[in-house]
Amino acid sequence: MAKGLEKHRQRHSELSLFGKTLTRRAKHHCELCQASGVSLNIFEVPPVPNEPVLEHCAFVCQTCLDQFNAKQLDGNHLRALNHSVWSEVPAVQVAALLLLRKLGADWSDELLEQVYLQPEIEEWVHKAEKVS
Ligand SMILES: [Zn+2]
Repeated sequence: MAKGLEKHRQRHSELSLFGKTLTRRAKHHCELCQASGVSLNIFEVPPVPNEPVLEHCAFVCQTCLDQFNAKQLDGNHLRALNHSVWSEVPAVQVAALLLLRKLGADWSDELLEQVYLQPEIEEWVHKAEKVS
């Protein structure tokens, strides 16, 4: 238990090194819903690598972060994924896709049909869904 906590702390401090780069990339907005003026958290897009990797990180607000573990998704909040699903940052695009697929609303299914995915993004999404 104590060891797990130690590991968690270490991970956290390693991830925090990405903070500056992510802040710049996200331009102080949640990379999923574009909210500004909120505190942002690092979300590691699964499958989470053994060592923290910047390319697996998305910088997101608490509401978006909560959606990944929520049983009931906030469909209104996630409307903003309309925009982020086209992100040029693979981790952000995959994170948006994961939530849209989980949401399963009419509009999100329609959006999923419209969006063009590079094969490697599609593969990433499938891998992520297997582990989450
Ligand atoms: Zn957000």
